[in-house]
Amino acid sequence: MDRNDSLFASAQKVIPGGVNSPVRAYGSVGGTPRFLAEAKGAYVTDAAGREYVDLVATWGPALLGHAHPAVVEAAQRAAERGLSFGAPTEGEVQLASLISERVRAGGLSPVEEVRLVSTGTEATMTAIRLARGVTGRDLLVKFDGNYHGHSDGLLAAAGSGVATLALPGTAGVPASVAASTLVVPYGDLDAVREVFAARGGNIAAIIVEAAPANMGVIEPPEGFNAALADIAHAAGSLLIVDEVLTGFRVHPAGEWGRQVEAGHAYTPDIMTFGKVVGGGMPLAALGGSREVMEYLAPVGPVYQAGTLSGNPLSVAAGIATLELATPEVYAHLDRAADRVIADLTAALRAEGVAHSISRVGSLFGLAFMPEKPADYEQAKTQEAHRFTPFFHSMLDSGVNLPPSIYEAWFVTAAHDDAALSRIAEALPAAARAAAA
Ligand code: PMP
Repeated sequence: MDRNDSLFASAQKVIPGGVNSPVRAYGSVGGTPRFLAEAKGAYVTDAAGREYVDLVATWGPALLGHAHPAVVEAAQRAAERGLSFGAPTEGEVQLASLISERVRAGGLSPVEEVRLVSTGTEATMTAIRLARGVTGRDLLVKFDGNYHGHSDGLLAAAGSGVATLALPGTAGVPASVAASTLVVPYGDLDAVREVFAARGGNIAAIIVEAAPANMGVIEPPEGFNAALADIAHAAGSLLIVDEVLTGFRVHPAGEWGRQVEAGHAYTPDIMTFGKVVGGGMPLAALGGSREVMEYLAPVGPVYQAGTLSGNPLSVAAGIATLELATPEVYAHLDRAADRVIADLTAALRAEGVAHSISRVGSLFGLAFMPEKPADYEQAKTQEAHRFTPFFHSMLDSGVNLPPSIYEAWFVTAAHDDAALSRIAEALPAAARAAAA
């Protein structure tokens, strides 16, 4: 019984399941979640004083590594001036401008105006309300296995046919709310066309992860998002591109920018950001054209608000992070991902473990199946049981992986040769454990 075990026992008495977000509970891998006491650079330290090389990066935000000194200093300086004002600040103007300037590619600038909120869930929830307000329509199309936070209408499960209204995906969501969502298989343009043929006149928006990374990583089919934009726009619907996870991580202009540079230009109507944009503090955003964004209150009729929106500490951390996220940082992330993927592949091959690694920029995910999964149904056919011994072997060797096979692995700018070598050294034993 170490300090993690005793803390977990205490936590379970005062916090449901001992955690404040379910995946932290090690539900799919079993065992005691590590209670973290410190996170610096590429490393985290648990409550028992054990250090791990980290590949969770607080689920994405720590692009520069944990507690980058310049980001911490920016937040500290902001804290000294006041923790929250509930009034507009200069920093918000600066961060909104930085986001707008970065999300440009191929002569397109889809983000003219930005609204800052506190979580990715709020960003996508607001984006959907905005799309409904703009179009005067109710229905939303989402993809099976895409995650956009936990607002009611987004926790919907597919109905019996593609054009069938969805069912609640969790207890507590009214059937009437889920019924405003249509869930289609990811990557299936025919299914999207079918849904639009049946109900196009009532569809406010399609929402899609810019690249899916919440069912493992799935590489988007070439031109998929651009085709969605065409289908949506032809029907007078909007396309919401969710970059909460991919934004400012896979490319300086997000996954949208990466796809535009690859020759698949399109214009999203609303984009959502989170994670990296707050540098590890609670902050998220939505952005779009001036025309669309000005449907939001106080200019337009779509209400949205937040006591802590644009919090000055979060804004300061976000600005510092984006300013430091230079092309060199992205090149480093790509090289770090190259190395982990090469070492992971070699270790699993040496043990004859069937696997695939899907990759989007520096973001990647492992699946215990020989082909890269194309959608959630395929991802669920993998030999997921292999992940439990693999995960625990890595943890025992001092590497902190996301505790689920359906989560992406995150490298940071702080993953230097020493950190990457520790991962490489841990992999052969983990591959043996996975093979057993
Ligand atoms: N969208 C995507 C693509 C996400 O990955 C997440 C969170 N992992 C969210 C939205 C929700 O963000 P938050 O957890 O900040 O509410």
